[in-house]
Amino acid sequence: MKELNNPYLVKVYSDVQKRNQGKEFLQAVFEVLQSIEPIIHKHPEFEQHGIVERIVEPERLIHFQVPWVDDNGKTRVNRGYRVQFNSALGPYKGGLRFHPTVNESVVSFLGFEQVFKNALTNLPMGGGKGGSDFDPKEKSDGEIKRFCQSFISELYRHIGQFTDVPAGDIGVGSREIGYMYGYYKKIKNEFTGVLTGKNVNNSGSLVRTEATGYGVVYITEEMLSKVKNDNFKGKRVSISGSGNVAIYTAEKVKELGGIVVTVSDSSGYVYDENGIDIAILKQIKEVERKRLTEYAKLVPTSTYHDNSNGVWDIACDIAFPSATQNEIDLKDAEKLVKNGVTVVAEGSNMSTTPDAVEYFIKNGVLFLPGKAANAGGVAVSGLEMSQNSLRLSWSFEEVDNHLKEIMINIFKTIDETAKKYGLEGNYVDGANIAGFLKVASAMIWQG
Ligand code: NDP
Repeated sequence: MKELNNPYLVKVYSDVQKRNQGKEFLQAVFEVLQSIEPIIHKHPEFEQHGIVERIVEPERLIHFQVPWVDDNGKTRVNRGYRVQFNSALGPYKGGLRFHPTVNESVVSFLGFEQVFKNALTNLPMGGGKGGSDFDPKEKSDGEIKRFCQSFISELYRHIGQFTDVPAGDIGVGSREIGYMYGYYKKIKNEFTGVLTGKNVNNSGSLVRTEATGYGVVYITEEMLSKVKNDNFKGKRVSISGSGNVAIYTAEKVKELGGIVVTVSDSSGYVYDENGIDIAILKQIKEVERKRLTEYAKLVPTSTYHDNSNGVWDIACDIAFPSATQNEIDLKDAEKLVKNGVTVVAEGSNMSTTPDAVEYFIKNGVLFLPGKAANAGGVAVSGLEMSQNSLRLSWSFEEVDNHLKEIMINIFKTIDETAKKYGLEGNYVDGANIAGFLKVASAMIWQG
């Protein structure tokens, strides 16, 4: 791993280390500082205006108690978070994650990444993120509802359509957004676009459900076409996760002629040489909310393996990690390269550890970082905000076309930025530099 040498960046990072213990946040900050190191000396104004030290410090970090009553009448308590990271480009925007691993470091890294991701979409959105260490697994619908209502009964005072507009993430889908939206409306007595990912009959946007997965595939398709004059036809594709991002990545890959050979959950993975059956996957995960073991029971050509990380042992041309952070480490990267992977695009945020990213790039794998690859979700959330403000609903085709155009533009931006700074093919640096320059310039303009 490279070291930082620029004295200004070394000092900023050392201060970040003193103030923050969590490894995920430090990892995300270090990656961005590394990327901007080659350009920082060309911009003495950044140090003058304290831009880097401001960009790595959240504008506001809120944490709060979330008490809720389980089905046995017992009161339980979780911790809720919202990190309002940077508002230079617009209202804070970013999802809510409900998962037992959520802590200050996790929401901070996600909020920090979101700042650059949102900048790349070219829509007017700042960056934020939030969530709770609540585990939605095996909770009844009533428990989920009571938790969501308690969570929003505190969060409502910190958010608003022009202030901070949360969306979903791991463990937060349309059902949870609905419970939070309904309760927000009741408390505030207003029907505004304060959350995105709403039901399409209730001011939600068409394509929001599909957006992140479709977006990952659109940007990968563009990269394949521009860099290799190639496409998805006949490619073997490995996907991890079986949630929102994984399902719609798989659906679009299949539509474009690729063969999705794996999906996983936190307990194991399913392998099917003939391609995953998307309709059955959706039925099990979205309708019945069951585990992947059920998939293997229904599809005789598939096999279930109870080691979720084993998904990276399978030979593939293209890999879409779409479960959680740091799910591909150096060993996984070595296996993937040995087995012939040529493209890796992050559906999940910071899916890949820094040494694994370095290994992919050194070995000629085309690597798209999450802040570029999975920006389609927040992009369509931005379009949902526009539709809410206009009190209009655009057609599926219209939103899908906007999404595609945004993803193609993101690829153009990160590719051209990488080339401009002599880093051709390094889309991690391209994304970090392009996002950083946009936010920095807005911060300087605002004083
Ligand atoms: P979902 O909750 O819909 O699905 C998450 C999937 O990942 C599930 O299959 C889950 O398995 C698996 N998973 C979660 N945590 C772990 C873990 N620690 N180890 C192994 N598997 C795990 O979430 P999404 O699909 O919405 O999100 C997936 C990733 O994509 C996250 O990193 C998220 O930040 C990112 N993302 C999502 C966007 C969106 O629009 N939804 C937008 C941009 C990024 P199990 O059911 O067993 O827990």
